[in-house]
Amino acid sequence: MKRFCKIVALMMTFIIMCGIIPFAGNVIADDDKDVEDYVVRLYSVVLGREPDGTGLKGWTEDLKSGKRDASNVALGFFESPEYLSKQKDNDAYLKDLYKTFFNRTPDESGYSYWSVRLDAGMSRRNVLKGFTDSDEFKALCDSYKVNKGTVDKAGADETIYNAKIFADRLYKEALGRDPDPAGRDSWKNGLYDKSMTGATVAYGFIFSPECMAKTTDDTAFVKTLYRALMGREADQGGLNNWLNAIKGGMKREKVFEGFVNSAEFTAICAKFGIERGDYHFGRTIDPNKPMIALTFDDGPSTRTHEIVDCLEANHAVATFFVLGSNAQYYKELLKREDSLGIEIGNHTWNHPYLSRLGAEGVIEQISSTNAVVREATGHDCTVMRPPYGAHSDVSDANVGTPVILWSIDTRDWEHRSTQKTIDNVLGSVRDGDIILMHDIHPSTVDAALYLIPELQRRGYQLVTVSELAEYRGGAAAGTVHSSFRR
Ligand code: ZN
Repeated sequence: MKRFCKIVALMMTFIIMCGIIPFAGNVIADDDKDVEDYVVRLYSVVLGREPDGTGLKGWTEDLKSGKRDASNVALGFFESPEYLSKQKDNDAYLKDLYKTFFNRTPDESGYSYWSVRLDAGMSRRNVLKGFTDSDEFKALCDSYKVNKGTVDKAGADETIYNAKIFADRLYKEALGRDPDPAGRDSWKNGLYDKSMTGATVAYGFIFSPECMAKTTDDTAFVKTLYRALMGREADQGGLNNWLNAIKGGMKREKVFEGFVNSAEFTAICAKFGIERGDYHFGRTIDPNKPMIALTFDDGPSTRTHEIVDCLEANHAVATFFVLGSNAQYYKELLKREDSLGIEIGNHTWNHPYLSRLGAEGVIEQISSTNAVVREATGHDCTVMRPPYGAHSDVSDANVGTPVILWSIDTRDWEHRSTQKTIDNVLGSVRDGDIILMHDIHPSTVDAALYLIPELQRRGYQLVTVSELAEYRGGAAAGTVHSSFRR
């Protein structure tokens, strides 16, 4: 690219020298004046004096020959011994940048954005780079007909200072106090070397006893999330939505998840140069460790809530493939499951062989069940399982989600033995498995209450089918999966 520009510049010089462009002489005269004016302006704004002849000539020639661009000439002024000897403080430096690059006084939000970075120790060169890389400076360069260009970054300091600012904001907004240096360094370094994510650091602050004691009131909790994670006050609409959700039973962890997974927080982490990370209701999933999906079909039943209690107590989740004809009587339970990050799958309305139905019949079975789930949770099922595992090209094409079978069949419906159900799981479980059980049988509920902590003790992360798919290659609508083994 650089070489290409050089060739173009040479060609332009050749064309002008040969006088091919009419009135070229006049054009060049104007260009001369503007380029020199740019340099004169830097003397006046940055150094506060008239140019000396030698300096003016040197900078102007560098600009005209392409040896330096407008950004680097300005950097030369700001890094000159003459400017440095003025020992300007951050406030004065920032005002000089605004005057030099934008020809104006600072706006409030821009000023605070940069001053917090400067005060945190971001290098002046990188702050200056923020100004020279802007569209506003580009317009100024165009008016002087100089090439804007760009300056090189000063080392990696931007990322580490950004990490420090991210942590400082959490201290201030979540804990309401100044950071203790040792604590801040561990957060900052974790973010910088990417052993920690924005999500895990934010979680550590928001759910610390110190912060929880300050946010016993729900309004205070949501406002703190806005300030600490988004760096802004809550808007009235957003605040009301979250408070209504909490009133409706949404757990604080789920509210936090909503903030972490938002586009706004994602963009903030990107701007800070840190990993956002994933947060799934009190669990952080490690993609490199074994994970499996427990699935329960044909419910809900009168004892399903016991499995949900056990999952919640162990910070685990599962997928319940519900029948619409049962789910219609368990909307509160569905809502609770959803608020805990437990997945609700579609198992049709009344358990037919989907492979024997036409498209219309398949759609009717799926959409009537989705309607119940949507009424309870606000959204449709994200996965489906065909009764008996019986599916066809027609059903696959019409269910609208991935089609999920299983890799371990406990045959719990057949033997109705708690011990056999446990043995069938523990005897063959592997990373990536999808385990089939039925929460309508008391023997299975008892087995699940044992299996959930036991599988975790053996090193398995218990995730939903959709999470398993997400970390193991994905699953598109209409595709059939019986496991996500690696
Ligand atoms: Zn079934």
